[in-house]
Amino acid sequence: MGHWRWKTSGVWGLMAAAVLAGLAQAQSGTVQTATRPLPPVYVPTPGFDAKDMDPSVDPCTDFYKFACGKYAANHPIPADAPMMDPFYEVFNINNQSLAKILKDVAAKTTGRTPEEQKIGDYYNACMDVDTIEKRGLAPIASYLAAIDGVHDKAQLAKVIGTLQRVNVDVFFGYGEQQDFKDATKQIASISQGGLGLPEKDYYLRTGEKDRTLLQQYDAHIAKMLTLAGTPADKAAQQASKVVALETALAKGSMSITDMRDPEKTYHLKPVAEFEHTLSGFEFGAFEREVHSPQVTELNDATPQFWPVLTQVLATTDLDTLQAYMRYHLLTAVASRLPKAFDEENFDFNARKLYGTQQPRSRDRRCSVWVDSAMGEALGKLWVEQYFSAESKAKMLQMVGDIEAAMERDIDTRDWMSAETKQQAKQKLHLVANKIGYPDKWRDYSTLEVRPEDAAGNLLRANEFENDRQLNKIGKPVDRGEWLMSPPTVNAYYDPSMNDINFPAGILQPAFYDKNASDAVNYGHIGSIIGHELTHGFDDEGRKFDGKGNLSDWWTAEDAKQYEQRGQCLVDEYSSFTAVDDVKLNGKLTLGENTADNGGLTLAFMAYMQRARMQHVDLTARQDGYTPAQHFFRGFAQNYCETAHPELVRTEVLSDPHSPDDLRVRGVLQNQPDFAAAFGCKKGSPMVPANSCRVW
Ligand SMILES: [Zn+2]
Repeated sequence: MGHWRWKTSGVWGLMAAAVLAGLAQAQSGTVQTATRPLPPVYVPTPGFDAKDMDPSVDPCTDFYKFACGKYAANHPIPADAPMMDPFYEVFNINNQSLAKILKDVAAKTTGRTPEEQKIGDYYNACMDVDTIEKRGLAPIASYLAAIDGVHDKAQLAKVIGTLQRVNVDVFFGYGEQQDFKDATKQIASISQGGLGLPEKDYYLRTGEKDRTLLQQYDAHIAKMLTLAGTPADKAAQQASKVVALETALAKGSMSITDMRDPEKTYHLKPVAEFEHTLSGFEFGAFEREVHSPQVTELNDATPQFWPVLTQVLATTDLDTLQAYMRYHLLTAVASRLPKAFDEENFDFNARKLYGTQQPRSRDRRCSVWVDSAMGEALGKLWVEQYFSAESKAKMLQMVGDIEAAMERDIDTRDWMSAETKQQAKQKLHLVANKIGYPDKWRDYSTLEVRPEDAAGNLLRANEFENDRQLNKIGKPVDRGEWLMSPPTVNAYYDPSMNDINFPAGILQPAFYDKNASDAVNYGHIGSIIGHELTHGFDDEGRKFDGKGNLSDWWTAEDAKQYEQRGQCLVDEYSSFTAVDDVKLNGKLTLGENTADNGGLTLAFMAYMQRARMQHVDLTARQDGYTPAQHFFRGFAQNYCETAHPELVRTEVLSDPHSPDDLRVRGVLQNQPDFAAAFGCKKGSPMVPANSCRVW
């Protein structure tokens, strides 16, 4: 469901999320240094920071520069990050408080609760780099032996299951999802996968930078294999074959744009039928080893992939298949292995891919990893101190205001029939609002954590999470479940649940500041609430109904009208250049751009309504600006950013969100209320002749 999240690749959100991708691991990647410098101390920034704006820039020419022009100078990119933005600032603050909680818990030796034992020992084992160094590859020896023990391709299904159970997702992905067409059911799902680079086009593009990165990836695989004991010349040969293997998988993979489309990724079928398309693979053995319940049907998300995988498994020699699995295993646990593995992993997956120069301090990284492993055990302690009942009440009020604004907005869509409007409102009324943290905390009692086994703890936590996920298959849906831990600086809409989710981690200054005005808060967090709500009605979300089922509730004419309006956004954003030679992919980013545009419209409507109710004088100026102007400055400051070009490039090529400065420009260009608030004339750079409006 990652692609429905709000700022999926905003690296920092993902870092703290429950399902860590390679990127996130590498970002928080481990390099132990002898000196261990003290981490910096972070303080919260206010809801609006006048220091970051550049009032000498005409807001009608470049509003991003006007609102964020001095951000880069005031917030240089730290060496341990690929970028700096308000998400990363809040991430640092939350991460710092988590580290403090963990230090206290870890220092306790008596009277610990079972959960304190688990998070304390997980943290201590992670911090104990001397033991990590001493134990070498011993913690993963049984997995390496399982790979080495394959003497016949018929045994592959079993070892793939063993690896996938600990989240080493070789060759493909297997998991659980709500049935798109019957959201009350939880079913098994199988999908393309197995790539070490962010997405398929990394293997297929032919530009100079692309070829260089692919060569660096090849060298990195060789280095990892060498560190694990393969002679260097042999490792180099294996690495090139592994890259060739992944390139073949990439060629058979669906594009990330198509992967966003629920109709293209839904093919419910009997397992027996699926097995015909992946011949020579013993699905039952895989199923047992990955600890899935035995299923009779599954969603085959990517049918075109299996003949390609069949071919790859049949034509690749066993030695290469083993090297491929060994490399992915080493990468998955590199941050909990001796320094050499950790440094090599960081060098490629963080430095080369994203431009990060050095890893974060060990205590901060270990805090992120405890959050990944046991986010609700740690998060429970965190929300007690960092999320007040007052914040929750204020959030509920804003969410209510924004949902009411959407109801009014639907009524004013003059291209929409009464029939479709009725359906849209029905869906809106069924949206569930989840704020802060779960009502019922997750039970970690069966997860075993040992005080001297950092890598083993990671593998057992992955196994625990895998089993928890797969165990849902065939059971009723738990609508109270969260996909993100409470301290996560992110938010998401889930179309199958039809719910919007705002972890306490993002309900912090500057996004929500109890000392800031409503104008600033509605511009900041309000536009993010509106963004998530609009996802329910973006190009994908609109295909699901209020009960979370993929079902078409649009009249044919209304659907046509909707798509025309979406095409306007595709054209608008496709015309933007992001970095060097790279243009934005207007189709890939359509859902996020729709959400950005709708989100700001709804937040502004909601703010104006609230201001009227509270008799706010909308002409009065504070610090020289009207409330409407405060609102738009607050919105823009969500996206002040300074980033290494490597990160921007990687994001533009693989992320459904537009880069931050273009998010601000793209949205405001379509906003008559913005033009009115700043007196911008039609024809000025921020008010082009053509504007788009979906919601
Ligand atoms: Zn989004």
